[in-house]
Amino acid sequence: MLVVGVDIGNSTTEACVAELDAGSPVYLGSALARTTGVKGTTENLHGAERAIRAALTEAGRGMDELAAVLVNEATPVISGLAMETITETVITESTMIGHNPDTPGGAGLGAGTCVAFAELPGRAAGEEVVCVIGAGIDFEDAAAGINAATARGVVVTAAVVCADDANLIVNRLDRPIPVVDEVTLIEKVPLGMRAAVEVAEPGHTIRTLSNSYGIATVFELDAERTRMIAPVARALVGNRSAVVVRTPAGDVTDRRIPAGSLTLHGERGRRTVGVAEGAGAVMATVRGIAPLIDAHGEPGTHAGGMLSQVRDTMSELTASPVGEVRIRDVLAVDTFVPQRVTGGLAGEFALENAVALAAMVRTSQGPMALLAEELRRGLGVEVRVGGVEADMAVLGALTTPGTDRPLAVLDLGGGSTDAALAAEQVHSVHLAGAGDLVTKLIDAELGLDDTELAEQLKQHPLAKAESFFQLRMEDGTVRFRDEPLPAECFARVVVLGEHGFLPVPARHPVEKIRTVRRSAKHRVFVVNAVRALERIAPGGDLRGLGFVVVLGGSALDFEIPDMIAEALAPYGIVCGTGNVRASQGPRNAVATGLVTAHAARPAEAAR
Ligand code: ADP
Ligand code: MG
Repeated sequence: MLVVGVDIGNSTTEACVAELDAGSPVYLGSALARTTGVKGTTENLHGAERAIRAALTEAGRGMDELAAVLVNEATPVISGLAMETITETVITESTMIGHNPDTPGGAGLGAGTCVAFAELPGRAAGEEVVCVIGAGIDFEDAAAGINAATARGVVVTAAVVCADDANLIVNRLDRPIPVVDEVTLIEKVPLGMRAAVEVAEPGHTIRTLSNSYGIATVFELDAERTRMIAPVARALVGNRSAVVVRTPAGDVTDRRIPAGSLTLHGERGRRTVGVAEGAGAVMATVRGIAPLIDAHGEPGTHAGGMLSQVRDTMSELTASPVGEVRIRDVLAVDTFVPQRVTGGLAGEFALENAVALAAMVRTSQGPMALLAEELRRGLGVEVRVGGVEADMAVLGALTTPGTDRPLAVLDLGGGSTDAALAAEQVHSVHLAGAGDLVTKLIDAELGLDDTELAEQLKQHPLAKAESFFQLRMEDGTVRFRDEPLPAECFARVVVLGEHGFLPVPARHPVEKIRTVRRSAKHRVFVVNAVRALERIAPGGDLRGLGFVVVLGGSALDFEIPDMIAEALAPYGIVCGTGNVRASQGPRNAVATGLVTAHAARPAEAAR
């Protein structure tokens, strides 16, 4: 008898074809397809059909030979994501220009009174000035003007330029000075005020203006004023060049947006926690009252907005009333997002603190029968819905060589991190936050606004194209190539994707991307692995778990399983990536479990 097991996940639908006649199943083919529509709805039909047909093709069999399609009882939980910034940098008056033009000129620190280029001839000898060169001034004229002023004894310590001319000007100066260019809103630079200009040597970042006391020294600030200027220094950290202008009323504020609080209603009580207290505080609260029954955010705040956003999306997707959507788990993650500084003069960005929330939502059960009916009609094959997903995952995981009961599985998917422990009974949990959240964090923290690229950056290591024939891998090793690299990769950071090299358009160095990538994985998967295992371990003690098999799409990641294994090492747990049927890696566990379970019930199978 030929059967096919089908596992419809939030992201992926997996199938495997097996022949059952001779007792234990003989597996003939496996396949996967992207899940169509929301898990558990009739829209899943297309994805399921695609996976089944592909598995049959691999098995060399036809749809007409199939005796049954085995589908799991899809868990009625799906996940949603929301992210909000909780701080905002606002510049009132113009006090700061902190940006990274491609090619600032000169190097060092210069301070003086801001003087328009046209006013230079009027300045007296000995006066310290910062020359402000507006739009439309030719670089040769600019250099000649500065040289003339210097010859007269005016101390031109630095310059700020509208055009991309810094090097062209510096190269023509008798005495080189630091020059910051590409300042688009140059007309807003307040003249007559004291300013400091800093340009770092190539490969370095500024040292003085990114340090509160450095700014205090340049402007002779007292303690109170230094405290006020501190956000400026913070916003300038990591820049290659910067300009700070002291205006009497000038002010940069580091505003905290009212983030609001979350009210968590759990089986062990109800508690409220402020989102601004950070992810750690939120998660400690969740842990204290888990399992969660529902959660609400303070109306009119970001917390309220985030949760109702999740609730609305879920209600829409599952066609159930908003009032019936229950939030069964929450994962809060601290993050930061580059945001344009309000009032900046050169399109400055500051890293603002943000909180990302992933939520697990319980949906009304039932459409599974509908889906089975549609499948039956569409394929013309008997369809059996049976088997709890967690039980099936355990059965599938047990086909991994070297495993035995008691066995815990950790299923790292796209939307949720699921865990199950097979002791006498299978006990399982579904936690919010998994691969999709990691992708979203990478996307937001690097300011990419490109989910596809973020997904590639998550899945593959990086390299820097140092020349057309030479790649510096992120681990520092060098790879030489016979063929020249594509021109668009030159001097860029590239991802070593499955389809060759993909240049990363952002200007981040390899190390920055790598740090963000690894930290995002850590914040989501290490946190969730521990959380999930604590919930299923006997008495909540991880030491009670012997074998942990990691499954799911995110278990294919090149560093996540290692991070988890490392985090679990102190508990004496054997933790490794599953290898379902000694051939499928961490994929296909539930589909395989469905077939195994079916084969073990011959009476039922014959019915
Ligand atoms: P589900 O069970 O929810 O349908 P999957 O088990 O298919 O989900 O996992 C989907 C997740 O796995 C996605 O977040 C995807 O980015 C991730 N993923 C798939 N392949 C890889 C890979 N090679 N490396 C890292 N992550 C991967
Ligand atoms: Mg899955």
